[in-house]
Amino acid sequence: APGLWLVATPIGNLGDLSSRAVVTLRGAELILCEDTRVTAPLLARHGISAPLQPLHDHNEAREVPRLVERLLGGARIALVSDAGTPLVSDPGYRLARAAIEAGAPVSAVPGPNAAVMALTLSGLPPQPFLFMGFLPPRAGARAEAIGRLRAAEAAGLAATLVFFEAPHRLAECLAALAEGFGSRPAAVARELTKRFEEVRRASLPDLAAHYAAQAPRGEIVVVVGPAPEATGGADEVEDRLRAALAAGQS
Ligand code: SAM
Repeated sequence: APGLWLVATPIGNLGDLSSRAVVTLRGAELILCEDTRVTAPLLARHGISAPLQPLHDHNEAREVPRLVERLLGGARIALVSDAGTPLVSDPGYRLARAAIEAGAPVSAVPGPNAAVMALTLSGLPPQPFLFMGFLPPRAGARAEAIGRLRAAEAAGLAATLVFFEAPHRLAECLAALAEGFGSRPAAVARELTKRFEEVRRASLPDLAAHYAAQAPRGEIVVVVGPAPEATGGADEVEDRLRAALAAGQS
């Protein structure tokens, strides 16, 4: 069918490309991808030869008007990213929003997503959950982001939190999370769907200590359990809210 198709691709295990994804990519007259060096081999494996065009943070804004024009003219365009579900910490949001606003048909072929897979394997409550993407890489901005989450918790948010993180920053990220959230249950999910898949479930301080001693490799999702039920009265909640806000501003 014509329109923009958001097509999920594997997050490691190539067997996770769905048959509907293959059919959709085969029927596309243009496939937008993050990095042609990643997507071309995937397409070749399935004998798909549609033209590939890179769409990434640096050219997306510029390319959107022309792509929306083509969509309104009835084109069948697929969008994939390097791994998993496009738009989720990946390019494509600007294009999808512009297509929706222009009234072009937009649909998706759902599939792998590292955040949801980690959530389901974490042993922590699956809902409500709050997907945060990557925390800021710098310590100050990261502490502020954690402070904002604590403020939201002091105001009543009790959600499982899901973060993406790079392996070389995992130990310092876990230390910052332990500092902000204390000794909460958490999980680190690594190399999901791949040969060395591993899920480590422990308290935040224990996970921080483990990965400080042993730098991990591969791709990583961190899942943090929800704030314990607020037990205090309104005054205590207000005190905690102020403290959390102050921490976020420091
Ligand atoms: N769009 C992707 C999705 O739907 O899962 C996420 C893209 S984001 C740029 C890449 C991050 O996702 C990695 O740094 C890691 O945090 C996480 N990730 C992707 N694949 C993973 C895997 N196989 N195992 C664990 N985490 C993964």
